[in-house]
Amino acid sequence: MTASRNSRNPATADELRRAGLRVTAARVALLDTVREGDHLDAEALTRGVRRRVGHVSLQAVYDALHALTAARLVRRIQPPGGPARFEGRVGDNHHHVLCRSCGVLADVDCAVGDAPCLTASDDHGFVIDEAEVIYRGLCPDCSTLSSSPAP
Ligand SMILES: [Zn+2]
Ligand SMILES: [Zn+2]
Repeated sequence: MTASRNSRNPATADELRRAGLRVTAARVALLDTVREGDHLDAEALTRGVRRRVGHVSLQAVYDALHALTAARLVRRIQPPGGPARFEGRVGDNHHHVLCRSCGVLADVDCAVGDAPCLTASDDHGFVIDEAEVIYRGLCPDCSTLSSSPAP
């Protein structure tokens, strides 16, 4: 894919505006980068934003990610022991599978249907509207590597 130099994607800018966020070239570039990427972390997103709009500090990207996540335009996934990852697929409460070896993260659709797809064994009186599961194991590449006999 060719990196778009268009830092002012009008549709993305509109979404930011509708969400009540200040529209900046960096935020537009960030939201586009999150959506085109596949569960990228903040450092990878920063590289993507810089390709689009030039220098942006890592801290500015963190701040913008915080605002986009709070506005529910972006979903944050926090794998245990690794950096947070971000994606543009929001609102469907899907889950993730994480490779313990190489860190690849993939989507897993909800097991039953609409959110929340998991019924808590004890809801502690909460009205639960979200459930997040991170399945962990080895991806096909890593499991082939670890199970093939030494040459
Ligand atoms: Zn792997
Ligand atoms: Zn996902």
